[in-house]
Amino acid sequence: MTFADLHLHTYFSDGTYSPEEMVSKGRHSGLAALALTDHDTVEGCQPTAAACEAAGMEFIPGTELTAEQDDHELHILGYFLDIHNPKLLAEIAKFQAVRQNRIREMVARLNQLKVPLTVEAVFKEANCRSPGRPHVARALVKAGLCSSLDEAFERFLKNNRPAWVPKFKMSAMEAIELIHQSGGVAVMAHPGLNRADEVIPGMAEAGLDGLECFHTKHSTSTAEHYLKLAGRFNLLVTGGSDCHGMSKGRPLIGTVKLPYHHVEKLKARAAERKAAAVATSAG
Ligand code: AMP
Ligand code: FE
Ligand code: FE
Ligand code: ZN
Repeated sequence: MTFADLHLHTYFSDGTYSPEEMVSKGRHSGLAALALTDHDTVEGCQPTAAACEAAGMEFIPGTELTAEQDDHELHILGYFLDIHNPKLLAEIAKFQAVRQNRIREMVARLNQLKVPLTVEAVFKEANCRSPGRPHVARALVKAGLCSSLDEAFERFLKNNRPAWVPKFKMSAMEAIELIHQSGGVAVMAHPGLNRADEVIPGMAEAGLDGLECFHTKHSTSTAEHYLKLAGRFNLLVTGGSDCHGMSKGRPLIGTVKLPYHHVEKLKARAAERKAAAVATSAG
């Protein structure tokens, strides 16, 4: 059997690994293929592709877009997309600008609470265009203002805590459309964490291609539940560890192993999406 891990983050968003470190860990855990799905960016795809090629592994370009549907925050994974697609890159640039402004707002709120963190310290810690709360948390710990990442989230950064600032989200339908027009397939990430099963039929109708049935935070019964829903709504099945490197304790890469036949099906769908995207842009 060959396996893939289709949900991974590097330091191009809130993971801690470089592409090379991640690929090396992936190879040692026995993966044949991996997909990079950094939040709201595709910047890490080229270096990760190069590292996979050097390691003799298959690379699948991807991203994890922040989206919403009916007041639920949803993460939409895009796979096999054209990472040079101009519309995709324009939307990602917008996302990144608002993420950077959000960091400034969160730091301003911390300063109002007499926590003397600087914006520069967070940007230095993030060192990427897609910064988020984990970077604020790491900067707070590094500056000695919190003793742990958990404390930073509990005291300041969790939803509705005093330094939390809501995040920009595109509509889930727009995210699906954006992925399709760049020739990719769109998959709902970790449905078990979203508690939004009621939106799945409408999204399937709108062209959602798959459900991430296997995920680190899904129990066996949760995975079975989503396998059933995928069958009912004719959705493809994906899975991944959602490894963020060392930022969440032990590295998770390779702990969720997706049998490769699911990747074959995803690839076949991507070929259809690509053909449709070319036909649309030509017409
Ligand atoms: P953001 O995209 O800036 O809202 O940050 C969301 C990211 O923060 C998630 O992808 C997780 O990696 C991380 N995160 C969210 N909640 C927590 C928490 N309570 N403790 C540690 N990390 C968290
Ligand atoms: Fe994350
Ligand atoms: Fe996610
Ligand atoms: Zn993720």
